[in-house]
Amino acid sequence: MYSPTAIVLTVGVIGYLIWANTGFYSWWVNKKKFEDFKTNNPGSFDGNKFISCPACGGDYIFVRNKGKVSSHLCKQCGKELWRSRT
Ligand SMILES: [Zn+2]
Repeated sequence: MYSPTAIVLTVGVIGYLIWANTGFYSWWVNKKKFEDFKTNNPGSFDGNKFISCPACGGDYIFVRNKGKVSSHLCKQCGKELWRSRT
């Protein structure tokens, strides 16, 4: 009753769902991690406080929630500065 094709398909779908729920978000966030942003733009911080956007000097961040992850953007120029898990 279970054909090999159906089994392969089921395993594939389950594997994809697991990756989509965990791996994809980690991968996406890791492309623009907060730690990396801070390391690359030390002038944007005073201690842990964000003080200026590296592109425009704006000092206000807004967070765009995308479900399991968030984009942290400069409110003035709209540049995506870093990403995080929510
Ligand atoms: Zn900016």
